[in-house]
Amino acid sequence: MAMVGIDLGTTNSLAAIWKDGKVCLIPDESGNYMIPSIVAVDMEGNILTGYAAREEELLAPERCASNFKRFMGTERCYDLAGQKFLPEELSALVLKRIKEAAENFLGGEITEAVISVPAYFNNDQRYATKLAAELAGIRCERIINEPSAAALTARGEEIFGKSPKEASEQYLLVFDFGGGTLDVSVVDCFENIVEITAITGDNHLGGTDFDEAIATAFCKENNLDWQELSEKEKTTLKFESKLCKEALSVQKEVKMFYPQDGRNLSMELTVEKIFALAPGLFRRMKNLVLRAVSDAGLQLTDITQVLLAGGSSRMPAVQIFLSRLFGREICVGGDPDFLVARGIGLYAAIKERKEEVGDILMTDVCPFSLGVQVQGDLADGKSKMCMMIERDNILPCRVTKHFVTASEFQEEINIVIYQGENYHPEQNLKIGELYLPVPKAPAGKEGVFVTFTYNINGILEVFVESDSTGEKKSATLVSGLRQFSAEKLFEKREWLLAQQHLLWEEEERKAILLMAKRLFAQTSGTRREYVDQIIQYYNYAWKSKSPVQIRKAGRRVLQELIALDMQLRQSIFDEKIFGEKFREEEEI
Ligand code: AMP
Repeated sequence: MAMVGIDLGTTNSLAAIWKDGKVCLIPDESGNYMIPSIVAVDMEGNILTGYAAREEELLAPERCASNFKRFMGTERCYDLAGQKFLPEELSALVLKRIKEAAENFLGGEITEAVISVPAYFNNDQRYATKLAAELAGIRCERIINEPSAAALTARGEEIFGKSPKEASEQYLLVFDFGGGTLDVSVVDCFENIVEITAITGDNHLGGTDFDEAIATAFCKENNLDWQELSEKEKTTLKFESKLCKEALSVQKEVKMFYPQDGRNLSMELTVEKIFALAPGLFRRMKNLVLRAVSDAGLQLTDITQVLLAGGSSRMPAVQIFLSRLFGREICVGGDPDFLVARGIGLYAAIKERKEEVGDILMTDVCPFSLGVQVQGDLADGKSKMCMMIERDNILPCRVTKHFVTASEFQEEINIVIYQGENYHPEQNLKIGELYLPVPKAPAGKEGVFVTFTYNINGILEVFVESDSTGEKKSATLVSGLRQFSAEKLFEKREWLLAQQHLLWEEEERKAILLMAKRLFAQTSGTRREYVDQIIQYYNYAWKSKSPVQIRKAGRRVLQELIALDMQLRQSIFDEKIFGEKFREEEEI
């Protein structure tokens, strides 16, 4: 069976494959390309994913988990109605859903995938992603950085209206701004080579930060204490903020409402207001862009195209901010939601050596510096970083350095490994540690060779070898608890499978019923009538008891509800389009 590319997103996940000579996005059974990366446990104890989970989240956020990609590789535990999950287990449930949809679409078992991650994901996060895939029953053949996948799409397709060859001869800046992360990379495209030359990013900067900034500004403007709100109130307010933020991509001005203690509180939202209420977020974005360009040895004016990827790059405020920074119009090429998925689909084809893809070559770089802690030479008595691999080194890479004992007659050498750019290790991220016994000797007399190998998946392995005894130690650097034995992995996979899962048909029905009821409550007049028509249409199908009719109606109704939901969010409900659509089709 062919290898699929999976864009495991913070907010939505997608899959793509090479089919009939081109990249093809894989729809789920209801025809949707994007599956919300949300997991819920419903009142009956069933695990839900996707649209059903997204609806459940609005009703009972305490039974749901979203944005868990941000916490991949950490010990954070999510308690969903008494069932406890780690972030990689939640990701595994989303991957399992994608695998199922892809298998239903392609008609065969999916066992291998290429998965994209934010460039700035560290070792633990990458390892956790591989683990999530294994828990879902997929072998992760390769991890690829999201901006690299986006650049690959730019190379492979005529997204700027130029021929692929012309489009390839330029410096691209990929601004990949998702729900929870921002990655900025500079890509040098020439002939058939896509070379990532610099990467910067922030794993904790995304669209949800804007939602929170809007929600807290709303509270401030309406004399509400954000800290005093319940979790449910915070979730609702953030969701309202998200809707208004998204509506700003099609409207100049949006009015945000929120009922509280019998009062209907409100706030005007404009693009300029977004700039005013979150200056810190824009400052962080600017620093990342400047650093990426300077790391690539370029000036802002050298960048030929800015490529926008990720849902948050749809924000007009972000596009205006970038055009002000670059001093020119920013070209929005292709759908930012699909850019990464298309690239990862293309990469899966390259990996499988599909003939039609040709000989596109892609090189990637290490997004951060990696080093070990050594005795410092500043007068503050603190230790310092000895860099082994500097950021933007081309992958894969291998570096060996020699270190000697610092104290008299020390019995072991402790290699502490950090990731980051700061002089002092404690200001960087500690990613592991290795001990090696050495014979007692005066300071500086015993030593070890330390080798860092950073592979193409962005996972670091460290080897230490003693000079005098020849004793060796090695480790794949992933913090302790994350390294599962084969038995533990098997056990975990069995446990996940043993949880109550709904069949996709049941999940689709649940999503339809919850979404229809929510939209009915949210709307009035013609819009409400339209929702009512959709519900009736679906009920007729159920009454027919014909699996074919139910299937057809389910697919159509869910797509219509999602489209309506989207239109309502953007306040562009078009009565002419929806008016009588379902009425004439009641008799099916
Ligand atoms: P991603 O992780 O790439 O799926 O991006 C999800 C983020 O994009 C969420 O924070 C969304 O609120 C945001 N987003 C999606 N569509 C829009 C839009 N039209 N305008 C502003 N933000 C959007």
